[in-house]
Order: sequence, then structure tokens, then C-alpha cells
Amino acid sequence: MSLIKTLETMQGKIVERIQQINALEPEERMKAVNELKSELLGKRGEIVQARQQLKDALPEDKPILGQLINKIITAINEAIEETKQYVETCQLEERLKKETIDISLPGREVRMGTKHILTRVLEDLEDLFISMGYQVVEGPEVEVDLYNFGKMNLPKEHPARDMQDTFYISSEVLLRTQTSPVQARTMEKHDFSKGPLKMISPGKVYRRDDDDATHSHQFQQIEGLVIDKHITMGDLKGTLEVIAKYMFGEERSIRLRPSYFPFTEPSVEVDVSCFKCSGQGCSVCKKTGWIEVLGAGMVHPNVLEMSGVDSTQYSGFAFGLGLERFTMLKYGVDDIRHFYQNDVRFLNQFKTLLEGEA
Ligand SMILES: [Zn+2]
Repeated sequence: MSLIKTLETMQGKIVERIQQINALEPEERMKAVNELKSELLGKRGEIVQARQQLKDALPEDKPILGQLINKIITAINEAIEETKQYVETCQLEERLKKETIDISLPGREVRMGTKHILTRVLEDLEDLFISMGYQVVEGPEVEVDLYNFGKMNLPKEHPARDMQDTFYISSEVLLRTQTSPVQARTMEKHDFSKGPLKMISPGKVYRRDDDDATHSHQFQQIEGLVIDKHITMGDLKGTLEVIAKYMFGEERSIRLRPSYFPFTEPSVEVDVSCFKCSGQGCSVCKKTGWIEVLGAGMVHPNVLEMSGVDSTQYSGFAFGLGLERFTMLKYGVDDIRHFYQNDVRFLNQFKTLLEGEA
């Protein structure tokens, strides 16, 4: 059979094969069209063989043969391209069908986290102080003895050091027992010719306490400090009243009892009138009508001088409160350990309350 005949027959067969292939399912169709391609155009494919025979053909037949071969190759390539597009369209339709959203189905509940109650109370207090012109300053939790104790009027061998059992890292380095060192560091840098210093220093502090319902080896403190000319005990009392009313209600009043802290003179314990019984006497206030909430006092002149502040010109007050204790009182939490155990049942109790505030 002449080469022309062979190629014409091949062409007819290919048209038939492509028709058959087009009747197949999409995946099989792709496979079949590729098989056809390698049968004809592969290394030992029929077209390759036909091309080899081309050089022995009569010169006048060569253009016709070349055209035939090209037609066959084009037909196959077109079939492949067409099949590819068809398969892709099928796959897209399939996917769209599967991904159709049934809007009548009930939604899945998305469980949202919320801020920890301690964070929320802290941010609340920070907002209060910022509104009164205080700056919020944070400092290192690993401190040197000099800043944690020395500059707070607690030299080595001072008996009051025992009031705060300390985690020492070395003889001079420790985990801070209070956030007061931040105050010393800020006082040193403050330019008093440009105005008063009003700051709070919130953060974690550490003490070697055995954990129980009211003690934790790690807790959070917020200490406040105001230094300017002519700061008096009256300024302190006014500020404490604002804090007490903000946290525990407008009707609250406070009372000051004399106390002792090495870094303040005079020092006071601050009680707030019981918000459970309004002073009638109950279990929260242990029948006294008053609840102790924080410690405060006028900054000791030694503390001012050690941070480079002239105590003959400047005076100031300071206060320190435990964030956990405040939060326990405000929300009636009976065990400090609840805050750190991350029991979702405990934490969720505050969720609606916080959402309400948000
Ligand atoms: Zn009470």
C-alpha cells in the first residue's frame, strides 16, 4: 500500500477514535486521548514511521504527504486540547455542585475567647489612672537587690526585709517582691522642673509564700506614685477615695488606719466600707463593716533622696494594691488559685459580664 493510502486510512481511523473517545467519561477520556497521542506521535509512533518513509517517496508526492502528516498531528493536538478543556469544565461543575451551601442548615457555634478577668480589671484601673493624668510604666521582673530593697529604704540587715520572703537568684539578683523598683527607676529619670511625676507601675511580683486560698507565690501589683511640690496626705486620701468608689461603687467610703511600711512615713492601711452589707456587718467584712483593700503613705524622705529627689522641696504619696485581692473582693471570688488554674467553668462566669461592658 502506498504511503498516501496508509496515511488517509490513518486519518479516517483517527476521526473515528476521537469520536469514540468523546463518548467516554471525563477521566477515561483524558487517558484515552493521551494513549492515542503516544500511539501516533510517540518515539515508535505511526507518524514517526511515516516521516521516515517520506524520504523514499516520489518528489511529486512529498508535498501531499507532508500536508497529510501535518493534518493528522493537528487533529490529535486539537483533540487533546479540547479534551483538557472539557475535563476541567466537568471538574469545576462537580466542585460547584459539592460546595453548594445549604443556607437552611443550622450554624455551628463559634466559641470565642475573652480577656482574663484579671487583665480586664487591670485595664479598667489603668484607664482610670490615665484619665487622671498618670503614666503607666513597666519594669523588669528580675531585679537587683539595690532597686527592690535598697532604694526603698530597706538596707541589708533591715528587719522589715523579712516581711517579704524573697526568691534570690544570686546574692544581688532576685525576683522582685514589689513593683516599687520601677518607681525608683522612673524617679531617677524624671525631670521635675518640667512638672510632677504621676505614675502607676503594674506587673507581676514574687514572694516565697505557700500557695493557699489567699496567698500565691506570684501575684500582680499596681503601685502608684505622685511627686510634686506641696503634695499632702489630703491628696492621697482624695485619690484613694476615687479608686475605692471606681472599683466598689459610688456609695463607698474609706478609712485610714496607721500602719508601717519602710518606704512611707506616715503609712496607712486603707479600708473600704463593706459593699456586701453597706457597713451592717457580714461574713465578707468579718462583722466589722470594713474591708482592708490596700496600703499607702507619704513617700519616705530617704526614698526621695536615694532617687535624687530633693526632699526639702518635693513630697509625694504612694500606694500599692494587689490586683487579685481587688478582683476577689469585687467579684466575690473565694480562692486566689482560681485565677491561675484556667478552669473554663470559672473563667466563663465573667464572660457575659465582660461582653456587657464591651
Ligand atoms: Zn460586710
